[in-house]
Amino acid sequence: MGNNEIKKTIVLKGIGVSPGIASGNVYLYNCQDIQTPYYKLDTNTLATKEVKRFKKALKDSVQELSDIKEKTKNKEGIEPLFLDIHIMILKDRMFIRETVDNIQERRINAEWALKLTVSKYRDIFKKMEDEYLKERISDVEYVSERVLRNLSQKTCESVADIDEEVIIIARDLSPADTVQINAEKVLGFATDSGGKTSHTAIVARSMEIPAVVGLEKITGEVQSDDKIIVDGTTGLVIINPDPDILKRYEDKKKHYQLMEEDLIKNAGLPAITQDNHEIDISANIEFIEEIPSAVCHGTDRIGLYRTEFIYVNKEQLPTEEEHFANYRRVVSDPEIKWATIRTFDLGGDKFVSDPKLAAEMNPAMGLRAIRFCLQEVELFKVQLRAILRASAYGNTKILFPMISGVAEIREVKKILSEVKQGLVAEGFSVGDNTEIGIMIEVPSAVMMADRLAEEVDFFSIGTNDLIQYAMAIDRVNERVTYLYDPLHPAILRLLKHVVDAGHKAGITVAMCGEMAGDPAYSMILLGLGLDELSMTPLAIPRVKRIIRRSTLKESMELLDTVMTFSTVGEVETYVRNYMVEKFPEDFPIIEQ
Ligand code: PEP
Ligand code: MG
Repeated sequence: MGNNEIKKTIVLKGIGVSPGIASGNVYLYNCQDIQTPYYKLDTNTLATKEVKRFKKALKDSVQELSDIKEKTKNKEGIEPLFLDIHIMILKDRMFIRETVDNIQERRINAEWALKLTVSKYRDIFKKMEDEYLKERISDVEYVSERVLRNLSQKTCESVADIDEEVIIIARDLSPADTVQINAEKVLGFATDSGGKTSHTAIVARSMEIPAVVGLEKITGEVQSDDKIIVDGTTGLVIINPDPDILKRYEDKKKHYQLMEEDLIKNAGLPAITQDNHEIDISANIEFIEEIPSAVCHGTDRIGLYRTEFIYVNKEQLPTEEEHFANYRRVVSDPEIKWATIRTFDLGGDKFVSDPKLAAEMNPAMGLRAIRFCLQEVELFKVQLRAILRASAYGNTKILFPMISGVAEIREVKKILSEVKQGLVAEGFSVGDNTEIGIMIEVPSAVMMADRLAEEVDFFSIGTNDLIQYAMAIDRVNERVTYLYDPLHPAILRLLKHVVDAGHKAGITVAMCGEMAGDPAYSMILLGLGLDELSMTPLAIPRVKRIIRRSTLKESMELLDTVMTFSTVGEVETYVRNYMVEKFPEDFPIIEQ
């Protein structure tokens, strides 16, 4: 194509996985597909040789990943735990056994045998209902591609070598590729495949590189050196933008950077209102890799560690040592003052692949979270032992999900105390200031809040579930999502009831549902008197900024006013107008 030719502007929509805007020139990253050869092995001797060749490729792949791990060890903000997961897959007995059996029993070459193994895994993962788990097949695929490359002895261009200011466009980037990117140079990336919860996305977020994935065909639409804009906030990618678009995005980029700089610069300041009322802001995490992001977004507390994510990628249940290693990392992190570890919340819409949980008609109301733990006590005890052992290494709070009444928490406490006694008898040390709390996310717990408060040290309100159960709406049924509204007068009353009951008993009341991280609700939550708000790390600076520019008095008055309204529409309109007027730069979108 001639230089003077004006190229057509193409806009593609994918999944924005790491916010921010990047514009620059395309670097088409070419990691060629490896062809999988197929051939039969005539003799047992050849099959034995082939197994050896496969094992050598596995070993080389482990070595490569270990090298990457070593190289990226000191990269700021990066905790490449997924590299351990990938190494674990390479060493997984079932993964190896399956391929070796394929070679020996079918007498086929290692590449094809591995392909069959991956395809079997793909079938298993496809049946999983949980989106996160479903996506974990990508980890198996990344690892297998590496093994295939080693079998074929083909090398792949390395992203680590890219040393110019570019935007990488690739069919896919494995998390191991992403972690090697030179974040000083690479401005952003966009890929054909991938999803929001892939490890690639998590790594991009922690490196703060704008990224859009799942574009399906971008590699077919661009050429090296094309101009491109990647908007990781909206998921839009614009190829060959015309000067007008480019200018608008340059302005947006500047605005975004200024906002972010201001937010990040002040993120470490405490959340104290203008009239000197302080509220704790903490982070919700699913993986320990998110701790650096939580810290750099301005918190030294983990308010919710969703430990069910430890069960991801596991053929077998995690061992006590695996649990322990994770919890110790969180509680002993020098930047973290308090870590709230929630015992696993399996069931509901999470991890329904477990055979014990799969058959339920209405899983959200079924055997999930603490109900499951109280039936599978031995499994529960493994996790409790690990948390208690970790509590010796730093300030720990244990949080129990889905508690519906007093008898349940008493039963839990009894098990916890037995586990603790057992550990002490075995000579383990455990922390002596560990706090025990419950999630308030079932309406019956709201009604029993006064009695429950006598049993525990703190409450944490899980609005995601509480709203679903209080409004009788299925969180995954889009026909009733219009009823899912945190500002519904019924919800505000429930919240007030919990906070008041908790405070009357002298315990702290936190909130860790999504409502806590939405700045539009910050003044309402201040007015309610919550002691702590726990949210996704990226939301922290904005919420803190709203709190710092509010007063407790004004927030209580706002709450008093909206408590007099009868419909959600009235509350919403009032709160929205109030916030837009008070904080115009923070709510530009809802302004019109
Ligand atoms: C909640 O229900 O609000 C909550 C924080 O828990 P999860 O979203 O993990 O169910
Ligand atoms: Mg919940």
